[in-house]
Amino acid sequence: MKTLGKSIGFSIPRATEGTQVRFKYGMPSEVDCHLENKTKIVVDYKRLHVKAIMLGFLIIGPSLYLMWRSMWTNDVIVGIFEQPPEIFIPSLLGLIILHEFVHLLTHPRAGLSSDSVVGIIPKGGMAYASYQGEQSRQRLIVTLLAPLIVLTFVPFLLAPFIPPAIVPFLPLLSIINGVGSAGDILLTFLVIRTVPRDAMCHGHYFGFSVNDSRDYQGD
Ligand SMILES: [Zn+2]
Repeated sequence: MKTLGKSIGFSIPRATEGTQVRFKYGMPSEVDCHLENKTKIVVDYKRLHVKAIMLGFLIIGPSLYLMWRSMWTNDVIVGIFEQPPEIFIPSLLGLIILHEFVHLLTHPRAGLSSDSVVGIIPKGGMAYASYQGEQSRQRLIVTLLAPLIVLTFVPFLLAPFIPPAIVPFLPLLSIINGVGSAGDILLTFLVIRTVPRDAMCHGHYFGFSVNDSRDYQGD
């Protein structure tokens, strides 16, 4: 398959072979998947994207706003909007980087593997961190939900113990991260519904590990 973008390597200091995170401009490349009965997890990415935008803005955003509103005043919650762009824009970019970094940390080998790919999809400007090696269904679910838990729910649970003046940005960043996690949430539902418990996930696919006792010809 023709790849949509160029891959460039990024060396971590004192890296040994295979411990590089790859960066990619475009969708992740197709993986060479040898799982039995391999099936695509997502059939229509465009539809997923539209659903994620609707879920994020119509349901998750307003729900998280009401949750925060039960604790703090509106002035505090929308605090970051009152900041000049030189604070607001870096905060937003920082949040996107942090979100992908949390995904990466939950990958096998904590992201220090050439199977971990961080990229940007030019259409829509969406960032992603994707593990391209084989992993269990459970592992994939943990990876998908980690940023939502760490950057949206943990700040919410800690908020009663933090004076608003110290972290005026916390509520809105928590809400924005929640809205931005809509795609991760939809993917999690999809994985729970369609991928059997004992299946393995590999790139865009899920399937079953080839039985070791059998002489696999690799057809
Ligand atoms: Zn995400």
